[in-house]
Amino acid sequence: MKLKIDLHIHTCYSYDSLIKPKEVVFYAKKRGLDGVAITDHDRVDGALKVTKKTDFLVIPGIEISSLHGHIIGLNIQEAVPPRLDVDETLDRIYEAGGIAVACHPVIFFKESLKEHISPRFDAIEVINSSAFPFNHSVKRSEEIASRLGIARVAGSDAHYSPEIGYAYTLVNAEPEVDEIVKAISKGLCSPYGRAIPLITRLKREFLVLKRKFLSSRKSSDF
Ligand SMILES: [Zn+2]
Ligand SMILES: [Zn+2]
Repeated sequence: MKLKIDLHIHTCYSYDSLIKPKEVVFYAKKRGLDGVAITDHDRVDGALKVTKKTDFLVIPGIEISSLHGHIIGLNIQEAVPPRLDVDETLDRIYEAGGIAVACHPVIFFKESLKEHISPRFDAIEVINSSAFPFNHSVKRSEEIASRLGIARVAGSDAHYSPEIGYAYTLVNAEPEVDEIVKAISKGLCSPYGRAIPLITRLKREFLVLKRKFLSSRKSSDF
């Protein structure tokens, strides 16, 4: 069966996300998704908490800050340390029983892997709804995926609930985490999606600034 899954979502367990864990499932259903992957920066505790609390399909994942750019591990139960080189990061993901996705390989303002992508990765995130400039990123990422002959996936990289589902991957698999990651690594998937609208991005930036302002006021009260 074909499953519609947003493979790149951050909860507030990531320092830069506004999404409360309980909002993930609510918005995912609202967007008509069959599942999500929670991929917080360098930690898995938020993802594991959500998987335990819901019957909705949630793939526990992590977005690892490797020495050469961000790498997503899917179907991961324990954190992989940051600041390792790409090969070592991939070894750790595979030892933990996960699959590796080169996320936003071509993007400005964020760490991207570019020439560090190799056929050792299971998939490339060719559509990342938060990528800037979006069209350039999709085009260049597609070129890398077809040159290396590896699977293509998509995710929203949502940090604010209304951003969930702007991109998703259609995966041809049974709705079980192990089956889904196996299908992705075999290339039984295709990426869909578009850029997050500017107004939504601006709202998120405003809310992040507001949160920073309020927390700095709180700490100066002491
Ligand atoms: Zn990233
Ligand atoms: Zn991300």
